[in-house]
This record gives sequence, C-alpha cells and structure tokens, in this order.
Amino acid sequence: MAFDYVIAGGGLQAGLLVLALRHRQPAATIAVVERADKLGGNHTWSFHEADVPAGAWPVVAPLVGASWPAYRVRFPGHTRVVRTAYHSILADRFDAVVRAALAGDGHALRLGVEAVSVTGTEVTLATGEVLTGRCVIDARGAGPTTEACGWQTFLGLEVELAAPWPDALPTVMDATVPQDDGYRFVYVLPLGPARLLVEDTYFADTPAVPADRLRRRVAAYLTAAGARDWRIVREESGALPMPWSGPTPAAETPLRAGTAGGWFHPATGYSFPAALRLALAVAAVPPDRATGAAAALAGRLNWRLRFARFLNRLLFRAVRPADRWRLFRRLYRTLPDATLARFYALEFTAADAARLLVGRPPPLDPVRLFSRPEVLPCPPVRR
Ligand SMILES: Cc1cc2nc3c(=O)[nH]c(=O)nc-3n(C[C@H](O)[C@H](O)[C@H](O)COP(=O)(O)OP(=O)(O)OC[C@H]3O[C@@H](n4cnc5c(N)ncnc54)[C@H](O)[C@@H]3O)c2cc1C
Repeated sequence: MAFDYVIAGGGLQAGLLVLALRHRQPAATIAVVERADKLGGNHTWSFHEADVPAGAWPVVAPLVGASWPAYRVRFPGHTRVVRTAYHSILADRFDAVVRAALAGDGHALRLGVEAVSVTGTEVTLATGEVLTGRCVIDARGAGPTTEACGWQTFLGLEVELAAPWPDALPTVMDATVPQDDGYRFVYVLPLGPARLLVEDTYFADTPAVPADRLRRRVAAYLTAAGARDWRIVREESGALPMPWSGPTPAAETPLRAGTAGGWFHPATGYSFPAALRLALAVAAVPPDRATGAAAALAGRLNWRLRFARFLNRLLFRAVRPADRWRLFRRLYRTLPDATLARFYALEFTAADAARLLVGRPPPLDPVRLFSRPEVLPCPPVRR
C-alpha cells in the first residue's frame, strides 16, 4: 500500500509526528508500524511549557494528562520554586489519542508486528507486508550506543497513597537525599491528590539500574516524607545516554527521527523538545522535502546540542561523582527561570550558554578528566 508518510516505530516521536501531520497536513495519509500491542510503551513523559514552540499547543494539548503552574527543586541549603508550567503525558492517553488520529480513511496502524527493513521508500513488516511511502521515517527508538557518555538511570513507582500528598507541585529534583552513584535526586509528580510518580534518579557513570535497591529507596523516601500506606500501580525505569561524543542529527534517507536519530537533549536525556520541533518541521513541508526540513532544523540546533555535550563532558569527566550535586545547586541558585526554560527547550542563546559556565565550579578531578572513559553499551530500555 502507498502512503504519504510511513513511520517505523510507534513511540513518542511517532506520536508527535502523527499529531503534527494531522494538524498541518490533514489530507496526508500516514501509516505507523509498532511491534508492541500499544503505542508509546510504558512511559510518563514530562516537559516544560517552553518546550512547546509558539503556535504548537493545539498539536500537544490532547496528549497532556497532568499540568502544574510551577515546579520545585531542593538541594542542601537551597530550595526554589521555578515559575514555569510543567506538564506530563501519560501512556494510556498517548495510545488513545494517537490511535484516534490514525482512525480515519487512508491511514494504517499495524500493531504487534516488527518492521524488519526500513528503506527510503518502503517499510517491510515481519508478516511480509510492504508499506510504501513518499516519506519514510525511522523512529524505532534508541539502539545500543557506542558513544562516550554518562547515564541518567532511574526507577519510578506510581503509587496510590492511603492519604492525600501534602504538596500539589511537582518536585523535579530533590537532591537532599544521600548522594550515591553520581548525582542522585528524587523526582516526585503528584498526578492526583493521592497519586504520585516517585523516581529515584542518578546521573551515573554506568547504565546499571539496580531495580530492587531503587524500589527500596523510593519506599524509604515516601516513608521519610510521612506516607504510611500505599499501593503500587505501575513501575517504569530507564537508562538514558547523556553523550559527549558521536554524531548529532543529520539529513538521512530514510529520515531517522526521535532517539534513533539523535533528536534528544544530551544534557537531560529527554527527547520531547527536539522530537516536537522535528515533528513540526516535517509537518510544515510536503513529504518529499521532509529530509531537507530536518537538515535545516539540525543545523539550527547543532551548536546547542554540541554545547550540551560539552556540559556532559564537564559533569561526567571533570567532576567527582560525589560532587556533581553542587553543580546543579549552583545552576538553580543563579539562573533565572527564563534561562532554565530556554536551556531545557534547546532554545538557549549564546549569552545563556556563557551564563551556565560562569561561577565557581565544584572541585575538579584532573585524573577523571584526562583518563580515557569506558564506553558501556546501553542496555535495552525496560517497558
Ligand atoms: C521510562 C522513561 C521515561 C522517560 N521520561 C521522559 C520524559 O519525561 N520526558 C522526555 O522528554 N523524555 C523522557 N524519556 C526519554 C525519551 O523521551 C523517551 O525514551 C522517548 O520515548 C523516545 O522517543 P522515541 O520515539 O525516539 O523512542 P520510543 O518512545 O522508545 O519509541 C520507539 C518505538 O519503536 C518501537 N520499535 C522498535 N523497533 C521496532 C521494530 N523493528 N518494528 C516496529 N516497532 C519497533 C518500540 O517498541 C517503541 O515503541 C524517558 C525515557 C524512558 C525510558
């Protein structure tokens, strides 16, 4: 069958592409191939208000399952409320919204089937079916990485508490917890009055996620915060590469999108801001000009992606693991809300970049800086 767009992989990037295309090119036909039996996997994706470019809210709004007007960060000796709205996309809603967007005539959704070959013009399924596209997009997610990188490792439990949680704002970083295995912080999203997602997170040198230990730490965090009883509803975990080498996104055929193509923020491991910008750029041009639009966007983001990689090199190679939290405390002490928002959105200016570097750094470790880092393969992301 022939379509305007064929997308291999049905994760975050594919969903954003589908929604952007349905908005900007309502007549275009789209096919999505996903090997799981639902779209998006088992994730909660969060993003800052400024991650959404002007005019793009109608594309994203149907996905949003929870929103807050601000968020908190906590460090030893410093607590702050960042007055930037924060939003989360929940897995079930993502699946429902993207399915509905593909429900009309002319579209196709193939679930539970592997894309075994992806070329510039067609995607071949394990069933033997071939989907032909004027534009083929490979959005099959992160494979093993061979880049030098640190890791954002985490395990989160979504829990239903017996009593309401006292704080209605998310805590995006609570680094008052004992530091261990790199920069450690706890992330708390109050998804409802008594429903929380609590993640124990590390900016670590290795991709290991010791699940039992992290589950125990989430439980200990809840207990220390005064929660007495809870039921675990869901669990998610990951090891996101935070690279300081390797290629940045480039013009390729088929177009590689999402984490498969390097469309993520190197200094956070998060892909929403870059994936949304790519989706909007692709949807703004006809299918045969998608690669050119991606190349233009890559060109615009390139120095920011390289700068974020440079920050990773500093964080993971120059600073001892036990001192990493000091770097984040300095950033959250000194940077205005608007600078932080531009940084997370990959829209920071040269002046913002300079500001990120100004100030007294934590003690540096020359041995780590000049020794050759090990390159560890990324384990498959658990779903
Ligand atoms: C648990 C977790 C939480 C995260 N939270 C955030 C967050 O809050 N904010 C944020 O911005 N980022 C977050 N990230 C990082 C990043 O945004 C996600 O990994 C994001 O899902 C990447 O989008 P993607 O579309 O590139 O890849 P994925 O979402 O991984 O999608 C790839 C899809 O392709 C499918 N696939 C793979 N191979 C094939 C094949 N051969 N045939 C058919 N289908 C195939 C997979 O099953 C998958 O559904 C998180 C990552 C994880 C793991």
